[in-house]
Amino acid sequence: MLFNTTREDRFSMLSRAMPGAFLSPSPPGFAGGEGGVREDWSSHVPNPPHPALSPAKPGERVEEGIGLAGETPNTRRASNIAISALLFLASLLAFIHFESKVTAAEKHDGKLRIIVFGAHPDDAELKAGGTAMLWAKLGHHVKFVSVTNGDIGHWQIKGEELAKRRLAEVKAADKQLGVEAEVLPIHDGELEPTLENRRTITRLIRGWKADIVIAHRPWDYHPDHRYVGVLVQDAAFMVTVPFFCPDTPALAQNPVFLYSSDGFQKPYPFRPDVVVAIDEVLERKIDALHELESQIYEGGANGSAEFVRSVPPASDAEARKAWLRRSDWGTRNAAEANRFRDQLVRWYGEERAKSVKHAEAFEVCEYGRRPNAEELGRLFPFFEKKDGTKP
Ligand SMILES: [Zn+2]
Repeated sequence: MLFNTTREDRFSMLSRAMPGAFLSPSPPGFAGGEGGVREDWSSHVPNPPHPALSPAKPGERVEEGIGLAGETPNTRRASNIAISALLFLASLLAFIHFESKVTAAEKHDGKLRIIVFGAHPDDAELKAGGTAMLWAKLGHHVKFVSVTNGDIGHWQIKGEELAKRRLAEVKAADKQLGVEAEVLPIHDGELEPTLENRRTITRLIRGWKADIVIAHRPWDYHPDHRYVGVLVQDAAFMVTVPFFCPDTPALAQNPVFLYSSDGFQKPYPFRPDVVVAIDEVLERKIDALHELESQIYEGGANGSAEFVRSVPPASDAEARKAWLRRSDWGTRNAAEANRFRDQLVRWYGEERAKSVKHAEAFEVCEYGRRPNAEELGRLFPFFEKKDGTKP
């Protein structure tokens, strides 16, 4: 089961609008892969409308169609031509709509393509929500993937009911951030670093044609976080190997892989290579986190009725957001800015770095492409030192 359905929807829309345009029931390679991941098939989209949909040329014989009693062959022929023309026009409009969606999101447009993996439907938002919004504001394409569906992440509800709720929450949050959302149908707390899951992650990175991949480090308190880190590391070279998952075209260039920040000390503390000031989008990040009710305001797996009573009620959104800003969720980006102030100076210059209040930080993983500072500056195009020089 796949929760986001954009390609499937578009395909069925085009199939309905252009019956016969696809000669096989589904385009080659469109069968669902492991973990519900569908392969990229944009290259299979036919460009011109199928000849069967072309309107009849003047003088061409039109086959027997809809006819009314009393019609002469000539009027019936004329009405059939008119109906064919209308059908063609409708198909063409649907096709143009379809094509424009593909163009915006999936064809190469010179913009960066970023994919962020979190273990649960809140991790990517918390770790990279501000930076993602900065990318999205510049027209770059960002996708957040929750590798599990979060179906045990609550003290009171569980299973499908919770998975549906968390999917709705994360979709609302990601809409606020301006990024695409996908949740994989893997049970919360049960993620394993299997070959099947390695293939799933590889296909997702390839399908997104990622320039940048972000994930947890493989050292973390939660097994799902750890295994997301392992799985993404395991894909870091395989995404370029054509005969691994040959059903999804390999990437010509290895992306830059980065870790999102954490506080764990062993085997070594998180060492950021790039720190991004997110002050200008912090309020919108708060708006996005506000959508994650089951976690933020109900306490998730470790919540309780008592905890819920300690939080302002759902009817008072402003009081809730004020509470959120003061909470650990709302203050962790301020803590990151203070913790990594030296790195902020490196990227923003002394003067500007002093004034940064909230930040997100990322560390380059050794297994993907190894960018130098200049390339990092291109991949994170938010920095301009006060003297106008790039770091
Ligand atoms: Zn998590």
